[in-house]
Amino acid sequence: VVFCYWTAMADAEYAIYKDPEKPVSHRIKDLLNRMTLEEKIGQMVQIDESRASAEVMKKNYIGSILSGPGHAAEKTSPEMWVDMVNDFQKGSLSSRLGIPLIYGIDAVHGHNNVYKATLFPHNIGLGATRDPELVKKIGAATALEVRATGIPYAFAPCIAVCRDPRWGRCYESYSEDPNVVQAMTEIISGLQGDLPANYEKGIPYVAGKQKVAACAKHFVGDGGTTKGIDENNTVISRHDLLSIHMPAYYTSIIKGVSTIMVSFSSWNSIKMHANRDLVTGFLKDTMHFRGFVISDWQGIDKITSPPHEDYPHSVQAGVNAGIDMIMVPFAFKEFIDDLTSLVKNNSVPMSRIDDAVERILRVKFTMGLFENPLADYSMSKYLGCQEHRELAREAVRKSLVLLKNGESTEKPLLPLPKKASKILVAGTHADNIGYQCGGWTMGWQGKSGNITQGTTILEAIRNTVDPKTIVTSRKNPDAEYLKSNDFSYAIVVVGEPPYAECLGDNLNLTLPDPGPTIITNVCASVKCVVVLITGRPVVIQPFVDQIDALVAAWLPGTEGQGVADVLFGDYGFSGKLPHTWFKTVDQLPMNVGDKHYDPLYPFGYGLATETTKADQ
Ligand code: BGC
Repeated sequence: VVFCYWTAMADAEYAIYKDPEKPVSHRIKDLLNRMTLEEKIGQMVQIDESRASAEVMKKNYIGSILSGPGHAAEKTSPEMWVDMVNDFQKGSLSSRLGIPLIYGIDAVHGHNNVYKATLFPHNIGLGATRDPELVKKIGAATALEVRATGIPYAFAPCIAVCRDPRWGRCYESYSEDPNVVQAMTEIISGLQGDLPANYEKGIPYVAGKQKVAACAKHFVGDGGTTKGIDENNTVISRHDLLSIHMPAYYTSIIKGVSTIMVSFSSWNSIKMHANRDLVTGFLKDTMHFRGFVISDWQGIDKITSPPHEDYPHSVQAGVNAGIDMIMVPFAFKEFIDDLTSLVKNNSVPMSRIDDAVERILRVKFTMGLFENPLADYSMSKYLGCQEHRELAREAVRKSLVLLKNGESTEKPLLPLPKKASKILVAGTHADNIGYQCGGWTMGWQGKSGNITQGTTILEAIRNTVDPKTIVTSRKNPDAEYLKSNDFSYAIVVVGEPPYAECLGDNLNLTLPDPGPTIITNVCASVKCVVVLITGRPVVIQPFVDQIDALVAAWLPGTEGQGVADVLFGDYGFSGKLPHTWFKTVDQLPMNVGDKHYDPLYPFGYGLATETTKADQ
């Protein structure tokens, strides 16, 4: 009797899906067979951190949580993040089948919601480096920092091909050129790890506990909307869609990307969230993507405008289009109820639900979440570590694009001498970590000031010059001040304030005040280098003649030291424009290859300087 009892127990406990020795396809099949409709639909739901608890996870079988932007402030240490994520995970593990949740976060230029993380240049700057190997290392560093907080999933990279800088997400785009964007998908290999030899095409891959699942976004054509209006309509031919916006998805799939996020935008007036032809037909069937497709934030609601009108119909359209996991940050019960009814009345086929859950489980199994669902504190040492800061600093150096360096007839101003009697550092962006980092930093829209650890450009300049050089700083120096001081030269750092998504859309792209005044005043009386901190090309033509040297520094992130490294010649300038620099906004959209291409600085432009120290 005793013997039989123990055999029965062992039988009850053994399940193929729990057996790491079994092939993933068998484990998925076994688990799927055990799941109720309620459990399956739960897997398809991703809720916001603010709505989650261990209890909610267990009771609703929720498959995923996200920390949307805005949850940063209260969690000041990686251990606090780990505790929170583990707490939710324990809820999921205690559900009937114990399916682990997958926790996701926007780590789009490093782990940007987390205090003290290393923040890399935004994608536009990385595009300027033209250095896929560097970008791969950045992916690997980001994975370690994200894992340090117990999180296994990053909503990155954004592989948008921005065709119009008026778009508020231009800085999230590596380039206007599909080839550059394609090359930069190498970040996926950094985030997830290199694929093993002979790995089956289209299958998601994450190489264990030091790597994270990546998310290529936003599928597809997000960077091609008319006038760069965010979430709007991309009106182009199928040929252009496939040749400009699609190639980077193909490359991402080849690299084993685990997930792909659908775009809020429409293609020729069809919402991408309801576009079955592209999401199922092209992405899954033609390109053989076998990971899961995730909606954008309330993306299903936005199938109608105004959003959330006829929600059941939108749920039907979105799920039938091929979306597998749905970001329903808040009203998840309504979603679950609606989808359940839709399945029961055959408006959404059961086969569609099974396909979605199979894909979600495939990602969870392949990344080892069933074996390692809980995080510990052992990786917290990676957050903002010195090695990552050095890497970010190198990225900053390589991202800088030198647009002007004196008139061709005169001696170039850059590199600047470290030894000078007195120099001026001016401008709104010279001493501001938040401005250097831009949007998606410690909050959705970014912030001003001392918001996380890092080195401002002013601090970096002070660190770099000869100890005897006097460095004075004024945000907006007046004529009197400029006249009464005898400056050797000035460095003016101006640009855009932080912004994200639609709030950054800008039809005139003028350099924000008081930038123009500062440039005009300073450059009128001192030899000056202007360093632009912007998420895109802006109107600069009216000032170019006043400026002696001009540098596009994009949104460099926390390591401002990289800017000083190059200004003072420890390293040479090497960045190349990732986007065309227009003369006037009337020319937009204007992209390389256009018939009437007449830019201020063409795509690929960038001067070089001598270096006093060899770059590795
Ligand atoms: C953005 C996505 C982001 C998501 C989650 C959306 O508003 O479009 O890029 O991943 O929010 O924060």
